[in-house]
Amino acid sequence: METILVLAHTETDGSLAKPVREALHTAATLHKSLAGSKLVIGLVGDNVQIAANSIAACPATKYFGVTGAEFSQSRYATDAAAAEAICKAAQATIVVAPATSRWARVLPGVAQRLGGRADTHVTGVGAADGKITVNRWYYRQRMEGALTRTQRPWILGIDPGSQTSCDCGAGAASVEMVAVNLTDAAKRTTVVGIREPKADAQTIRPDAQLLFVTGAGWTKKQADGQTHLPEAGTLILDFLKQSRASLGSSKSLVDLGGEGQAVLPFLSHMNQIGQTGATPRHSKGLSTCCHGEEPHTVGWRFIGERRAVNLDPNCGWARGKADVLYVADAFKVMTKVNELLAAGNT
Ligand SMILES: Cc1cc2nc3c(=O)[nH]c(=O)nc-3n(C[C@H](O)[C@H](O)[C@H](O)COP(=O)(O)OP(=O)(O)OC[C@H]3O[C@@H](n4cnc5c(N)ncnc54)[C@H](O)[C@@H]3O)c2cc1C
Repeated sequence: METILVLAHTETDGSLAKPVREALHTAATLHKSLAGSKLVIGLVGDNVQIAANSIAACPATKYFGVTGAEFSQSRYATDAAAAEAICKAAQATIVVAPATSRWARVLPGVAQRLGGRADTHVTGVGAADGKITVNRWYYRQRMEGALTRTQRPWILGIDPGSQTSCDCGAGAASVEMVAVNLTDAAKRTTVVGIREPKADAQTIRPDAQLLFVTGAGWTKKQADGQTHLPEAGTLILDFLKQSRASLGSSKSLVDLGGEGQAVLPFLSHMNQIGQTGATPRHSKGLSTCCHGEEPHTVGWRFIGERRAVNLDPNCGWARGKADVLYVADAFKVMTKVNELLAAGNT
């Protein structure tokens, strides 16, 4: 009989982030299709009661918690010790965990401590005839694999954004506290603060509906024989501010920035989409001034509806890569789009 543990950490305000609800939905669905299985929840944080209450209506039969100031922050030693203690207390055989950056760096180590196995970037979990199958992508999202394991505990890091969120309601949950004996070594690392970009400088937004891609065309000479970099930067930032879209880029454009040239300073390699970049998940994508070559568009695998604006009717997007190609000047199109957004049109 499998004991399925949803292992999560709380946010600083004590709430649970969306990836936790996705992991919970995955685990609850698995629990439903595995006769005789048990579903339990394990939470780590300063105080986990608010989080446990927020999902109290889920089908889990038990809640475990590790709490205290040491567990409020992301730190490998304390997080690994807390996760290990909860897995042991719950006697978990399957651990379903959201692959947040905090958890992703801890889960493989926890599997090692428990003599189990961990699989990362999991995008699907199912069961048939009592056998659990896990799906994940390989070779930069070109091939999807399905695998099973007999080793337990089996820890599954669920890729955020790949699953439906559970809609379990709130209630009153009773949490069984698990004690963790932290060694001196575990307390050796002190978190003195977090350095992160200001909220309005953060252009990568995994939860956004729209991926807005910028290509090198924004930096090229335009019909008047001149480049229009400052104007391009203003148009793009204005659009991002109004639409709250996530900003992606072609490799050519971020490479220019990396060479220290005076081009769109808000772009870095973190924004790059494609074979050697990211493969984000958004329901819609809009590409501007980008040619749509295969090494770039391979990163659009998980983008639902795709549209592109390009001056060239023979660009890559026209060859089956986009649902709609607007053969138009992106400077003019985005000026108009920004005007419409400012006027309240969505
Ligand atoms: C091994 C390898 C890995 C790679 N990995 C990646 C990757 O991960 N991601 C990636 O992006 N690329 C990758 N590339 C590079 C990729 O092949 C392309 O070179 C790159 O994507 C081109 O970027 P671009 O479309 O922005 O630029 P360009 O090819 O220069 O295209 C610019 C486009 O802008 C259009 N344009 C210009 N002005 C306007 C305007 N006013 N309005 C509308 N359109 C306009 C032009 O018509 C043109 O189509 C890789 C290449 C290799 C060899």
